[in-house]
Amino acid sequence: MVKVDIKYTKLFINNEFVDAVSKKTFSTINPQDETVITQVAEGDKADVDLAVEAAKKAFHRYSEWRTMDASQRGVLMLKLADLMESQAKYLAELETLDCGKPVKVSEEEVFYSTGVLRFYAGKADKILGSTIPADGEVLAMTLKEPVGVCAQIIPWNYPILMMTWKIAPALAAGCTIIVKPAEQTPLTALAVAALIKEAGFPPGVVNVIPGYGPTAGAALTHHPGVDKVAFTGSTEVGRLILKAASAENLKRVTLELGGKSPLVVFNDADVEKAAQLAHFAAFANGGQCCCAGTRTYVQSGVYDQFVKRAAEIAQQRTVGNPYDDVEQGPQIDSEMFNKVLGYIKAGKAEGARCVTGGDKIGDKGYYIQPTVFADVTDNMKIAREEIFGPVQSILKFETFDEVVDRANDTNYGLGAGVVTNDINIAMSFAKHVRAGSVWINVYDHVTGQTPFGGFKDSGMGRELGEDGVNQYLEVKTVTMALPKKPQF
Ligand code: ADP
Repeated sequence: MVKVDIKYTKLFINNEFVDAVSKKTFSTINPQDETVITQVAEGDKADVDLAVEAAKKAFHRYSEWRTMDASQRGVLMLKLADLMESQAKYLAELETLDCGKPVKVSEEEVFYSTGVLRFYAGKADKILGSTIPADGEVLAMTLKEPVGVCAQIIPWNYPILMMTWKIAPALAAGCTIIVKPAEQTPLTALAVAALIKEAGFPPGVVNVIPGYGPTAGAALTHHPGVDKVAFTGSTEVGRLILKAASAENLKRVTLELGGKSPLVVFNDADVEKAAQLAHFAAFANGGQCCCAGTRTYVQSGVYDQFVKRAAEIAQQRTVGNPYDDVEQGPQIDSEMFNKVLGYIKAGKAEGARCVTGGDKIGDKGYYIQPTVFADVTDNMKIAREEIFGPVQSILKFETFDEVVDRANDTNYGLGAGVVTNDINIAMSFAKHVRAGSVWINVYDHVTGQTPFGGFKDSGMGRELGEDGVNQYLEVKTVTMALPKKPQF
C-alpha cells in the first residue's frame, strides 16, 4: 500500500486550520480495505457561522479582495493552478486514498482542474457589462457584480475537480466562498486549501468546512449570510437544498444533479469504436459519474455484434488496487457498494441478460465486477434509475423517432451521446434529445470552455464556460440622466 502523508485534517477558516468548535471529528474510510484513514474535524452550525462571518468580512466593499484589480484575481488563480500542478502527484495519491479511483485517473483530474482554473483566471478581467440605448434622456449601462458569499457543496466522485469547477468561476467573479466537501472525501479539499493560502488569496476568500450533509451542509444552505448555493450531488438532496435556500433568504441556486444518460449507436457506426466509446461512457470512474452513459441503445442491425464486443471489453477491464496500473478501483463506500449490487440483482430478477460480471470481487474493499446487461427494456429498474456503479444496460431499437422518444422518456436530462457517421442523424439527434450536453462520436468531453448542466431533474444553471461565471454575477443597471441637448 502506498504511504501518503496526510498534512491537513482540520477546518480551514480565514486562512487558518482550526479544530471544530465542538472538537468533534469523523473518520474518513479507505474504500480499498474499509479501514479508517484518519480523523477529520467535523464542522457543524457553529463552524459554519464562523466561516460565513469570515467570508462576509472578506467580501466587505473595502476588503483586500474587493479592492484588488480583477487582473490580479486572475494572477492568484494562475498561481494556484501552478501550485496544484507542482503537487499533482501528491494530490492524486491523496485523492486515490480517500475515494479509491486509480491514481493515474486522479492525476488526470488534477491537470483537468488546473485547466479549468486557468480558463477562469483569464476570465477574471474580461467580465463585461454593456451600454444600452435606453429610451429617454439617459445613459444606461450594466455592471456585472459578484453575487456575494457562496456555499459550494461538493460530491465525492471527483473531489478535486468538483471543487475547482465551483471555486474557479466564483473567484473570477470576485465572490467569497465556503466549500463543504463530501464526508467521504474531505482530504484533497483541505490540501487544496493550503495551496490557496500559499498562492496568496486573502483570509476568508475561500473557507473549507468538512462535515456531514444534514448538519454542516444544511447549516450552510439555511444561513442568511449566504447569497448563493452551488451544489453537485443527488437529485434527492438537490430538492432539499432548493427548499432550504429559500427558507431564510432567497439564495441563488445552481444544481448539478443525477442522470440516466442515453448513448445511441446507429447501424452505420463502426461497431468496434462504438463499443469502446460506450464502454468508456458507462464505466469511466467506475460508473460513478453523473453523466455516465448507462443506457446504451443499439440499432437492431448491429445489436448482436455490439453486445458481444461490449461484453468482451468489460471482461478485459482491469479492476484492483488503485495504486497499480488498473482501470477501476473500489466503489466509494459500503452504502454505494450495496446499492449497486442491489441494482445488479434487480436487473437479473427483471429478466435482463447479464452477459458479463454481475458480482462483487473479493471480501475486502468495495470492488464490483464490470457488469453488462443486454436485452434490457425501458421499464426495468436498471434502465430507469441512476445506478452510479460499473453497470451498462444495452437496449435494442429500430428507428430514429423511436429511439429519440425512448431516450427522452426519463426525468433526467444531463448528457446524451450518439454514434453515427451520418451528419443528418447526428444533428437531428442533437436537436431533439432533451439533455444539457450532447456528444457526437465522443462522450463526456467537458472542458473549462464548455457549459455543463442538466435539463429537467438533472439540475438548474450551468457550470463552466461563459454561462458558468454568469451564475456568480448579479447584473446591476445604472441609469444616469444625460440630456440629449446639453444645457451648458
Ligand atoms: P451522493 O448521493 O452522491 O452521496 P449526496 O447528494 O448525498 O450525494 O451528497 C453530495 C453532497 O451534498 C455531500 O457533500 C453531502 O454531504 C451534501 N449533503 C447531503 N445532504 C445534504 C443536505 N441536507 N444539505 C446540504 N448538503 C447535503
